[in-house]
Amino acid sequence: MQPNKCDLIIKSSYILTQNDERELIENGAIAVSGSVISSVGTQTDIESAWIADETIDCGKSVILPGLINAHTHVPMTLMRGVADDLPLLEWLHNYMFPIESGLTKDLVELGARLGCAEMVASGTTAIFDGYMYEDAVGKAVDETGMKAVLGEGFFKFPSPFFKTAQDAWDVIEALHDQFADHERIRTAVTPHAVFTTDPDQLAESMELAERLDLLWQIHAAESVPETKLTLETFGKRPIQILKEYELLRERTRLHHCVDVTDEEIGWIKDAGAMIAHNPQSNLKLGSGICPLTKFLEAGVTAGLGTDGAASNNNLDMFDEMRTAALLQKGFLQDPEAMPAQTVLDMATVSGADFLGFHDTGKLETGMKADIIAINMDKMHLKPVYNPLSHVIYSAGGQDVRLTVCDGKVLYRDGKFLTVDVETISREAEKAVEWALQRLENR
Ligand SMILES: [Zn+2]
Repeated sequence: MQPNKCDLIIKSSYILTQNDERELIENGAIAVSGSVISSVGTQTDIESAWIADETIDCGKSVILPGLINAHTHVPMTLMRGVADDLPLLEWLHNYMFPIESGLTKDLVELGARLGCAEMVASGTTAIFDGYMYEDAVGKAVDETGMKAVLGEGFFKFPSPFFKTAQDAWDVIEALHDQFADHERIRTAVTPHAVFTTDPDQLAESMELAERLDLLWQIHAAESVPETKLTLETFGKRPIQILKEYELLRERTRLHHCVDVTDEEIGWIKDAGAMIAHNPQSNLKLGSGICPLTKFLEAGVTAGLGTDGAASNNNLDMFDEMRTAALLQKGFLQDPEAMPAQTVLDMATVSGADFLGFHDTGKLETGMKADIIAINMDKMHLKPVYNPLSHVIYSAGGQDVRLTVCDGKVLYRDGKFLTVDVETISREAEKAVEWALQRLENR
């Protein structure tokens, strides 16, 4: 039989396919045509069936689907390390908000470029973002070659960014129109949180999400002090308010869900809403620990996120996976509570559901070619009994040697193919003075 032509073949000693059987292929290969995976199999099978324009042999590596960051504020890389060791509300109101109220579109774009570069170098190919000037974030995502759901955030009005509610809806709709035909970018409606908005405004924003058929994301039940504040202001807990105003729906994406009751988990499940788990941000801000196993046992889909780099303080999804696995085990005093496979599922297949990108998160025929490889030829990754174990418990983002998104190579062996990291680094250093000045003048 005559071999078929494809654009790219990627070979490696192991492939964690994340297909429905969670199949591991030894000495595997993937054939890619355009942006799509044509076939996945053993090197022998693929090389006898396909002829490629280019072959990348990753040698002793583990290939897996590009990781999906379900919750981040990518421009916050500019605030990495500006304020640590503070509780959530103090950190937000005394540090983040004063700095952010002086943001310009150029600064947001710079922070997004920095974050996107960091992410492609550590194996992330898709993000669910929320911030201001998301059109600038979209520009950075587009040029880097990743994929994203972009959410223009809003607070109680008037905010430094929107004078009236109508301003916000107009910007969200314009953002939606701008990226409506983009292959890799979608948008979402993004109220910041229950305690920084008001219920009528939330209800109105949900109407907009319904009309434009967009996902609706919100920080929810992130900490006990948040619940206290919401109780004082509205007489109800955050998830209670969302339920009462019929804001728990299939399109709803809830970030954090640390301080939740069993009943609230049931409501979230019944609504078909999904949650994003952000263990490092929750730990760093002292917000608490999400009862993740209860959510998963209830049948709620959970993605995994880093949150912004100001509360993490990196965007490394390998780091996040390891923390997610260890945290529930220690918290519940049960080493079986959060198996490695469950954690990888959150960062891949469930993350894809969370973002609404149903053609990524798995390596199989017909899926988008969002592919990463980690270099196993390193001392901390030897010997190999079980590649999945190394991916979750031993590897880090710095072990990524290849990142491919929609069939395009974005990062390979330390080289960035789509972004100018020297310029980004130089400009990012200059942002320090700006941020410190904002804090001085607060
Ligand atoms: Zn967040």
